[in-house]
Amino acid sequence: QAEALMRAEQLAAVGRISAQVAHEVRNPLSSIGLNVELMQDAFEHASFDSPDEAREAREILGAVTREVDRLTEVTEQYLRMARPPQPSLEPTDVTEVIASVLDFSREELERAGVEVVRELSPEPPHALADEGQLRQVFLNLLRNAREAMLDGGRLTIATQVQTRDVVVALRDTGRGMTEAVLSRIFEPFFTTKEDGTGLGLAVCQQILKAHGGELSCQSEPGRGTTFFVRLPRA
Ligand code: ADP
Ligand code: MG
Repeated sequence: QAEALMRAEQLAAVGRISAQVAHEVRNPLSSIGLNVELMQDAFEHASFDSPDEAREAREILGAVTREVDRLTEVTEQYLRMARPPQPSLEPTDVTEVIASVLDFSREELERAGVEVVRELSPEPPHALADEGQLRQVFLNLLRNAREAMLDGGRLTIATQVQTRDVVVALRDTGRGMTEAVLSRIFEPFFTTKEDGTGLGLAVCQQILKAHGGELSCQSEPGRGTTFFVRLPRA
């Protein structure tokens, strides 16, 4: 018990320090991003000695942009982790949030060879939720699913309206998890990925708890994983 408490305190301290670092990084990063955009615009009108040179210049800037985007996302996650979000709850059609997130991720999912199947409840799933935060939850879960299906696969998103709750199940046919991994996935900073932050699921869980909801998971190594998002009905 005391040990668990100490670990929680350590995590909180690490969280605060990382948030500080993330904060320091955010402004310069956003200025780098803006300047890269300006350079991209300038390149549109620049004259290069050869088409090859022009292509190379664009590729380099493209790579910088992608890394800036990635770092921005990571720092935002660190900051979110340290400042627990206060959701503004409103009746929200969960189907629409899912549709918008899928639309946003479509290209990435296609490139990864992930087929998406939607199993929608007959009754529209209206939940009491903060739309922006809910988007964040689904984006994180979708990304994890894609990262677990490196050779492609199927992602099934099923909505269900229960007496008091709306439940969304996201089932992937990815690599799954062992018991040992499964027992730690909600810990902040726990990751099995080389470039993971280990913050995605911790943030999702925090968001859902603040909604009076819940995030849970079932997984089988080699077969796949299902995440259940539970939210109070509107
Ligand atoms: P990150 O994605 O940065 O590693 P997360 O908090 O999003 O951090 O996830 C923590 C860990 O949970 C991942 O590193 C991975 O081991 C495991 N995980 C999460 N989602 C899935 C999934 N859909 N399939 C298999 N493993 C998963
Ligand atoms: Mg993740």
